[in-house]
Amino acid sequence: MHPEGGCSLQRWGTYTRLVPVECEIARYYCPESRTTFSLLPDFFAARMPGTLKQAQQAAQGLERAKTDGSLEKQAEQLRQLSKNADPIEPRSAVAWMQRRHRAVSRGLAVVVTLMPMVFGGCEPTVTSVGAVLGNVDAVLVQVRHLAQDKLGQIPSPIGFSTPKSETNKAHGRAPARSVVCSVHAATSSVDKGSKPWIKRKQLKQRSPPT
Ligand SMILES: [Zn+2]
Repeated sequence: MHPEGGCSLQRWGTYTRLVPVECEIARYYCPESRTTFSLLPDFFAARMPGTLKQAQQAAQGLERAKTDGSLEKQAEQLRQLSKNADPIEPRSAVAWMQRRHRAVSRGLAVVVTLMPMVFGGCEPTVTSVGAVLGNVDAVLVQVRHLAQDKLGQIPSPIGFSTPKSETNKAHGRAPARSVVCSVHAATSSVDKGSKPWIKRKQLKQRSPPT
């Protein structure tokens, strides 16, 4: 973020994710670059409610539905499964699934391009990428680990990059910045926009410099 060094990164309270269970996420603040970061556990989807596994299941469901035409049925099943834990989502089960499928496909397309040694020849689908990984259960979590030094370039929910169109639509701001912390704890910068599925808390004595 500032390659000249001298980062005085400090704790910056927490925010709370509500889906699938209430969870406190630690935040940090870099005064030099005036950026906040959150220490996102690797099983959570980035910039989307719920886990990476839920996003994966939605994408997989849609991939399957493309071959057997069972889209509505699969969408409703998935929605039922996550209903209790996901009270805000969704108005439409199919749209809910398609949104996740689109985001996951976008992310996997970048992963496949950035990592030809691992994923050369893969389709940007959970099925194709999962096959390379030996059909592991948590395909996207595995991908996130393998691509840990590239997460800033990979669109959410796998990485932390925000599609330009969404950024402009939201607030006309530049995309939030991102870094990676370790294999087991991915780090992403926090979008300052409001999201219904997170509660934000900030330590009162630490308001950012203006
Ligand atoms: Zn810094």
